Formats: sequence, structure tokens, C-alpha cells
Amino acid sequence: MPKYRCDNCGNKTRFDVVASERSKSFFHYSLGGELGIESREVLEFVVESVTCRWCGSNKSVVDDSAEVAASIEQ
Ligand SMILES: [Zn+2]
Repeated sequence: MPKYRCDNCGNKTRFDVVASERSKSFFHYSLGGELGIESREVLEFVVESVTCRWCGSNKSVVDDSAEVAASIEQ
């Protein structure tokens, strides 16, 4: 999953994320017809918009995961 940062207010923890997802799930029905969904696997996760919960900006939110990956390597 991506990591986000708001350049406008510095928020790194709270975002509204709108995304479309493609997933594969094991539908396991009981004999009574009750459905239990098991071993859900996300095949595709496409983020459509990210809005900062602090300042409401959706233009200042940047993906922070490249910087995080770089800091792990050091
Ligand atoms: Zn913000």
C-alpha cells in the first residue's frame, strides 16, 4: 500500500482514499445457505483520489513511499 503525505499541512496519518479494487475470494456457503467469505486476495488496487482529512486538500497529497523505501535501504 502507498504511504501518503500532505505537502500543504504536513499530515501523514489521515486520508480519505477512493479506490477501485479487483479481488479474488473463496465463497464458502454453509448448508443453511449462509455465506462466509474466506481468503480474500487483492489482485488490483487502483487509487482514484486521496484527500487530506486535516486540511481537505486533494492536490497537495503526495506519495511518500519512495522516500520511505530509500530510508529503509540506508
Ligand atoms: Zn493537509
